[in-house]
Amino acid sequence: MNYVVLSRGDKYSNELTEKFHLLAAERGFTRNDKEPDIVVSIGGDGTMLHAFHTYLERVDEVAFVGIHTGHLGFYADWKADELEELIRMMAETRPRIVRYPLAEILLETPEGVTGYISLNEFTLKGVDGTLVVQVNINDEQLETFRGDGLVISTPSGSTAYNKSLNGAVIHPSIPSIQLAEIASINNRVYRTLGTSIILPQHHHCDIISKKDQRLLLTIDHLSIQRNDIRSIRCSVAPRKISFARYRPFPFWNRVRDAFIDYTELD
Ligand code: NAP
Repeated sequence: MNYVVLSRGDKYSNELTEKFHLLAAERGFTRNDKEPDIVVSIGGDGTMLHAFHTYLERVDEVAFVGIHTGHLGFYADWKADELEELIRMMAETRPRIVRYPLAEILLETPEGVTGYISLNEFTLKGVDGTLVVQVNINDEQLETFRGDGLVISTPSGSTAYNKSLNGAVIHPSIPSIQLAEIASINNRVYRTLGTSIILPQHHHCDIISKKDQRLLLTIDHLSIQRNDIRSIRCSVAPRKISFARYRPFPFWNRVRDAFIDYTELD
């Protein structure tokens, strides 16, 4: 098995990475940064975002595994003290491959159209003032948005930024994107729905710039600033990310464990 490990970079995650390499060598796994079959992320959900973007070109060929060195994660299901168990299972068992939807945008500027893929979300914000954009769904105008920004999230990203905006938590088996508002202004000129909306795979949404404005576009943890964005087309990406599951990792249990104080009362 060809594998690569990406560490968050802190001392503990780096130590665990070294331990992973030692145990993996004993099992005959091959370190291969260029063409891995398995990408192991050691750190947190943020580390998985880095791992995903590092191996985006090979997303159809690789499966991801997450080990968390802090709190329980949405993408990182193995605990540090379970490392031996994970490597034993990687050597001796076949994983179940679980595939999660991704979001795609096509960014239109005078230079042409550029595509980007996200695992969590895209955000669009004004740099110098409020963002002013028209939102079309399937080529029909929905609304004119003025406010701090818009977030387009994937189902697995729905528990991240989207959730802070009161967006719905979506199960990753539902191929969809969610559009959530950040502080919209509502008056006679600008009127928005005020709730997040969820688009199925066969729909698309266009965000069209309505003035000369410097915009900040984020793609998960990455960001781009431009003053010539004409429009952004958002849809469910044709590609998916694969996770190798060596044991069950139910999404709703993760939601409960991350967000609900699950203290038993005697
Ligand atoms: P960060 O600011 O260091 O971390 C943001 C937090 O989001 C971390 O606690 C991270 O978990 C958590 N997170 C990441 N993906 C998640 C997911 N799918 N579900 C639940 N929680 C998740 O930034 P970063 O590590 O580079 O991550 C970038 C992400 O930060 C963005 O994709 C965005 O979702 C999130 N963000 C959230 C807000 C907000 O909620 N107001 C604002 C900006 C950005 P770990 O500690 O396990 O890494």
